[in-house]
Formats: sequence, structure tokens, C-alpha cells
Amino acid sequence: MKNNLFSMALEQLDIAAAKLDLNKNIYPILRQPERELTVSVPVVMDDGQVEVFTGHRVQYSSVRGPCKGGIRYHPDVTLDEVKALAAWMTWKCAVVNIPFGGAKGGVRCDPFKMSKEELKRMTRRYTVMVMPILGPKRDIPAPDVNTNAEVMGWIMDTVSMFTGQTSLEIVTGKSIDLGGSLGRREATGRGVMIVTLNTLKKLNMNSGDATIIVQGYGNVGSIAANLLAQNGCKVVAVSDVSGGFYNSKGLDLKDINEYVSTSKNHLLEGYKGDAEPVSNEEILVLDADVLIPAALENQITENIAKNLKAKVITEGANGPTSPEADKILEDRGVVVIPDILANAGGVVTSYFEWVQNIQSFFWNIDEVNRNLNRIMNKSFEEVWSFSKEKRVNLRTGAYMLGVDRVAKALQQRGIFP
Ligand code: GLU
Repeated sequence: MKNNLFSMALEQLDIAAAKLDLNKNIYPILRQPERELTVSVPVVMDDGQVEVFTGHRVQYSSVRGPCKGGIRYHPDVTLDEVKALAAWMTWKCAVVNIPFGGAKGGVRCDPFKMSKEELKRMTRRYTVMVMPILGPKRDIPAPDVNTNAEVMGWIMDTVSMFTGQTSLEIVTGKSIDLGGSLGRREATGRGVMIVTLNTLKKLNMNSGDATIIVQGYGNVGSIAANLLAQNGCKVVAVSDVSGGFYNSKGLDLKDINEYVSTSKNHLLEGYKGDAEPVSNEEILVLDADVLIPAALENQITENIAKNLKAKVITEGANGPTSPEADKILEDRGVVVIPDILANAGGVVTSYFEWVQNIQSFFWNIDEVNRNLNRIMNKSFEEVWSFSKEKRVNLRTGAYMLGVDRVAKALQQRGIFP
């Protein structure tokens, strides 16, 4: 259930904390967000009626640096979900060792039922409502589910209009024309590809024969699928909210990409290529080496965990696996590359964007990807060897590394005043 998401985040934290033997004065601080803001977002809809949306921004931790994390637009957004996602951002930034804390935002709405002008008005009003707690040294938003470079551009413009200063560094994930970083749009998917190839190598599995399932053919999943295919892997199934497609001999991704580039809302619905239709639940248990959940939370439940056939799961989404499912997967010997490592490529490249904006000095794509590779490879190696050394699964290992970094920073800063 959705409203258990924050309990799930705390459960994962507790497992790692128990193994870390954290200072008794520090631990309770890590179990609670620093700040939660709920705002009302009235919007004049195109038909003249006013609709009032609810938005949140949760700053989980600013201990290691300014709070950082995306904003999502989805009908199921709740404060609890945003709290969980903000906690995950905190551990994620710490695992890959970039100087940010964690935050998340969301507006409960159905963006597929809204016009672009309605979305723009909603974004501008939400931005103004959370603006008192934003800032390039306070809290820097970014894209998440159903938000993109265009939405980030509206956020940048709204803040800039209010302050009378063009503030590129207030938000990341912007378009290249508005000071975004080269490679940012592809970065989360690229990171998923990097950690997946690293894992296959560790398991002595040849990427040339590896078969891949991707649930969520959106910004993260489609890039990961295409980059893995370029590295020789065979993508056998993909899906999005509208359903999915499977072909055991491998899908024609070029054909699929062409289809979704012009389809309604860029969805797979109506695709007529050489593939059988599958549902979003069926896709998880198909026969393949690697499963990449890249959609929403809570997809891999106990029942799915018992039945899935993949040997490796790379969590492109945040929180796709429940703690109960995690136990089953561990017993079954399935290797799970946890979200806080697997999908960190996005926020790492957001960090590069923020640095470029602050310095007003832009990098070329080779520089971006070289640094992304360096950070993702190093973080993967650290999590892998630390987990082996401590005899824990990769999620607990990643949590231990991340939580320990936040705890150490907190201890050294001390408790104000
Ligand atoms: N929404 C992305 C995430 O969950 C990116 C956040 C960011 O770049 O700040 O990691």
C-alpha cells in the first residue's frame, strides 16, 4: 500500500542502522525529515473553473549540503510518499558522495488530463508557494515522474521573475537552451546501464548474451534499454503505464522508439510491431537475466519476488521492491542493485549542472560522461566490496555506507545551538 512507503523507508534505514551501531543521539535525528511543507495550489483551468491541488516539498536532510531532489506530478502523490522519496535522496547523494542532502516534492494531479497551459500555471503557483524554502544553497529541485526540462524551465523563470535575478542554479534538469547540462536527460538511464554492466561482469555473465526486461519505458527505462542494447544485451520486454510488449528473440527498439516518438503521450499503446502484448505485472516475471523496474514504487511485492525469473534486478525506479520481497529475493540468490545506487546517475549529473551554473562555465559531453562514469563505477565498487566484506546484501551495504556518511557529518557539525 502506498501509505506505508515512509515506514518502508524507515524499515530499510533501521536494518542498516542496527548493523552500524549508530550513536544513540544521532539516530533519532536521521529517522525524521528536517522540514515538511504542504501547500495549496489553486489553478484557473482552461474552462474558467478553479481547481485546488495539493503540493508538498519535504527537506529530509541538509547535513551534507543543500537539499536536492525532484518534483513529481501524479494522482497518487501523498506526504508520506514524498517523505520516503526525500529520505531516499539523502542516502543516494551520500552513497555516491556528492555534497547534497535530500529532498523531494510533488503535486497530486493527473498531468495527462491537463493542458500545457494548465500545467504551466500549476507549476508557477506551486513554485511560488514553496519558494521560501528553495535556493541554490538551500534546496534545488529537479525532474521526477511526469516532470521534465520544460517544467524545470518554468520553475527557473518563476523564481527569476520574483527575485529579479536570473537564477539558473535554482533548479537542475533544465533544457540545454536554459543552462541545463549536456547528458542530464540521459543520465539516470546511463547510470542504470553502468551498474548493470558492472554487475554482469562481477557475476561472470556475458553482456553479449544477457536478456533484459524494462518496466517503465519512460525517461529512465528507455535510455537504459537502448544503451544496454548498444552494449550487446538483448532487450526482450518493455512496458509503460499503457501496457507492454514481449519478444523472446529481442525487441526491435528502433521501431519502438520511432513509434513512441509520435504516439499519444509517447506511450506504447497501439504498437503493432513484432511482439506479444503483456501486462505491467506479467512483464516482471518473464524469463530474462536482468529485470529493470523503472516505473513507480511497490512493484516487486512478495508474490512477484517468489515468481520472478531474473538473476539481477537493477532498480531504476525509487522504492520498487518491498522489504518483504527483498528477503525473498535474497534467499533466492537474486542480486538486487538498490535504487539509491542504481538510479543515482540522474542526481550526479544534476550536481554537474549545478556546478556549471554556479561557475557559468559549461562542460562538453565527454567531460560530463567521463565524470559520471568515474563516480558511478567508483560507487558501485565501494558498495559491492563493502557488502561482501560485511556479508550483507547490496541494499543494506549501500544504506550502511550512505547513512554512516550522513551520521558522521552530523556528529562533526554538532547539534545546533
Ligand atoms: N528525481 C531524480 C531522483 O530520484 C533526480 C533528482 C535530482 O536530480 O535532483 O534521483
